[in-house]
Amino acid sequence: MFIGHYGPALAAKAFAKTVPLWVLFVAAQWVDFLWATFVILGVEKVRLIANFFGMSPLDLFYMPYTHGLPSAVLLSLFIGGVAAAALPGNRTAILVAVAATAFSHWLLDLVVHRPDLPLIFDEMKVGFGLWAYPYVSVPVEIALMFGGLWLYDRAAPSPTRAGTIALWALGVFMAALQVQNTFFNEHPATPEGFAQLSLFGYVLLTLFAAGVDYARKEKAPRRRAEAL
Ligand SMILES: [Zn+2]
Repeated sequence: MFIGHYGPALAAKAFAKTVPLWVLFVAAQWVDFLWATFVILGVEKVRLIANFFGMSPLDLFYMPYTHGLPSAVLLSLFIGGVAAAALPGNRTAILVAVAATAFSHWLLDLVVHRPDLPLIFDEMKVGFGLWAYPYVSVPVEIALMFGGLWLYDRAAPSPTRAGTIALWALGVFMAALQVQNTFFNEHPATPEGFAQLSLFGYVLLTLFAAGVDYARKEKAPRRRAEAL
């Protein structure tokens, strides 16, 4: 799953309003940030085969450190703990929001992946395989993302008009990216190339989320020159 992972991140923002959206965007792809890094380092392995599964070229045959169930739980608690220690606000709420967002990654991957997610070590692999039907999985991902976005915008409306526009523009951009990425993308030829492109995408969307955070900040009223 790609854009659908941002659904829980956006929804979490409705419940933990003090956590910046960009932090939740990192959390949503936290295990994939590590996955891409590990693929580049050769620690985890993937084969690229055109239309291997539905329209996905990914044969994810070895990723126990990031996408194994026990590792996903530990990694989610870890990033939740780091966020709770680093950010101001209710620490329990931050821990729960960030860890839950991070763990939702594994649950959503479970829905779309073929059985390549190990329950323990590199064994007992599971995956419900929705990616076999891209004309179903893509609308599901986009709906998840917009669902989270709508929850966020409703629970914590932007004090500025620019903030509302920025959030919805990011949603439209992400939906377009999902369509382009699934149906029109020439995938990179090598696993390293694929991992680098993934990292680039995650970093770019995180920066855009930081832009949305900025646009939705309460602006201090402008000082007027005092009239006589
Ligand atoms: Zn993943």
